Amino acid sequence: MYQIMASTKNRHKLEEFKKLLGGQEVEIVSPLSYEEPFPEVVEDGETFEENAVKKALAANEYIDMPAFADDSGLMVEALDGAPGINSSRFAGPDATDADRIEKLLKELEGKENRKAKFVCVIAIANRGEVIETFTGEICGTIADAPRGDHGFGYDPVFVPDGFDKTFAELGAEVKDKISHRAKATKAALEFVEDEMSAVDDL
Ligand code: IMP
Repeated sequence: MYQIMASTKNRHKLEEFKKLLGGQEVEIVSPLSYEEPFPEVVEDGETFEENAVKKALAANEYIDMPAFADDSGLMVEALDGAPGINSSRFAGPDATDADRIEKLLKELEGKENRKAKFVCVIAIANRGEVIETFTGEICGTIADAPRGDHGFGYDPVFVPDGFDKTFAELGAEVKDKISHRAKATKAALEFVEDEMSAVDDL
C-alpha cells in the first residue's frame, strides 16, 4: 500500500480524489488529518501546470511523503479562456460558487458561443522534486441557468458534450467517469502503480 498526500483542503476535491485515486494500492492522505497547519500556497503561476507543481512541492515539503496536487478550472471560449486559472477567484476573494456562476452567466449574456472546457492538471512530487504532471480535459457548453444540486463550483452550469444535463444534475456516478479530474487522476494512478512502485519505495 502506497501513501500519497493530497495537496488540498477542499473537501469536495478530497472526496472526489479519494474515490478516483484510492485503489487497493494507493491510500490518499489528507492534510486535514494533521494538526500542523497546511501552508497557504499562493497560486500565482501563469498556467494550471505551474500552480499544480507549486502545490505538490509545498505538500511534499509539509510532510515528507510523496504528494500530488491538482490545479483546475473552467475555460470559456467566448471569454478567451477565462475564468481559467482564476476560476476560484473569478468574482473576488469572498465570493461564493453562486456569485461566480452569476458573473459567468452575465458575461455570456447575448453570446451565442457557449463552448467551454474543464481542465485539470495533476503534479506528483517526491523528495523535493516534481516527478510528472498529467492533464485531463472535458469539453461541454455553459447552460443558460444553473441546474442540479450535486458537485461544486461551476457544476450547475456545465453540460458535458454528449449529455443534456449539467454535471450537478448528472451527479458523481457520471461525473467521476468522464470529468477532467477523473481523466488526469486515472493517468496519475496508472503512473503511480506502474512506474513509481518499480523505481521508488513510495
Ligand atoms: P483550484 O484548482 O483549487 O485552484 O480551484 C479551481 C476552481 O475551478 C474551483 O474552485 C471551481 O470553481 C472550479 N472547478 C474546478 N474543478 C471543478 C469541477 O469539477 N466542477 C466545478 N468547478 C470546478
